[in-house]
Amino acid sequence: MIIVTRPGITEIQLDAIREAVERAGFQTHLSRGEHRTILGCIGDERMLSEVPLATLPGVESVIPILKPYRQVARDFRAEATIVTVGEGVGASIGGNALAVIAGPCSVEGRDMLFESAHVVKAAGATLLRGGAYKPRSSPYAFRGLGEEALMLLTEVREETGLPIVTEVMDTRQVELVAAHADMLQIGARNMQNFALLSAVGEVRRPVLLKRGLSATVEELLLAAEYILARGYDHVILCERGIRTFETATRNTLDVSAVPVLKRETHLPVIVDPSHAGGKAWLVAPLSFAAVAAGADGLIIEVHPKPSEAKSDAEQSLTPTDFNDVMARLRPFAAAAGRTMAAATPLMAGAGATR
Ligand code: PEP
Ligand code: MN
Repeated sequence: MIIVTRPGITEIQLDAIREAVERAGFQTHLSRGEHRTILGCIGDERMLSEVPLATLPGVESVIPILKPYRQVARDFRAEATIVTVGEGVGASIGGNALAVIAGPCSVEGRDMLFESAHVVKAAGATLLRGGAYKPRSSPYAFRGLGEEALMLLTEVREETGLPIVTEVMDTRQVELVAAHADMLQIGARNMQNFALLSAVGEVRRPVLLKRGLSATVEELLLAAEYILARGYDHVILCERGIRTFETATRNTLDVSAVPVLKRETHLPVIVDPSHAGGKAWLVAPLSFAAVAAGADGLIIEVHPKPSEAKSDAEQSLTPTDFNDVMARLRPFAAAAGRTMAAATPLMAGAGATR
């Protein structure tokens, strides 16, 4: 960390700053320029976060050198983390193969769920998504079938072998959802629900962490750090579009967040083109862009009859359209040097145990 002092700082003020830093266990290095004096602080600056240095008389600015996150950073682990989901035969995300998670926004009933699962599996998806608890802007909208949906998800996994991804919205649901799901989704609206992040870090179940509607990349990484700080690192980050002034799309897909994240962290990064664009016809081009930008996977909403969907109808693909997107995705994956993921035999204990 570097402390830049104000012009005309007195020696007494400078000594006080130096003492505050040294009291916190740091070494200091003073550099006197023609106009400014700069104080270098040597040590792990995150330990200085509780010392309000910027408030000390004579301080102009405090410039951090280290990133505020630690365990999610590439500097912490150079090789990519590969997250394995499921048991026996499951899915891996974060390696060379592009993983596709697909399924309905919400689990609305048995028939539509089973049909969706068979369709997405046949088209090449390796994980099934389906919301049991839905975060909705209006309290009067369909908010999911809850526990009944969790039971259906368990049944459909047994029939198809597809691992299940479903959202958990509340710390009180974590145990229950983790008892049924193979991967826990933390939705955009909960990205900074710190109690929830810590709670999911405790249950040893892979986590799909979605970027908040107006969260910076750094805030997303810090949210992931909450989970890793509990000693669990099976976390996948998801860029799902952010709020901007643009109204032509539901959100603005921040494509550049993908290479930025891939550079900053060893965790896998996937893209959700469905919530980003908000329109079914945008899913294909946004998926191709995501793959070109280096995404490790995609999460796509598919519904047997989008016109009857109880949530996110406009952005849900029909089975035919999903097949089409998957077929057109292959050359983009190949151009990005990737294969398409297939169901993977997992070593015992590779993922989390259920
Ligand atoms: C969803 O995946 O259906 C969802 C609600 O996503 P997000 O949290 O990204 O809005
Ligand atoms: Mn949705």
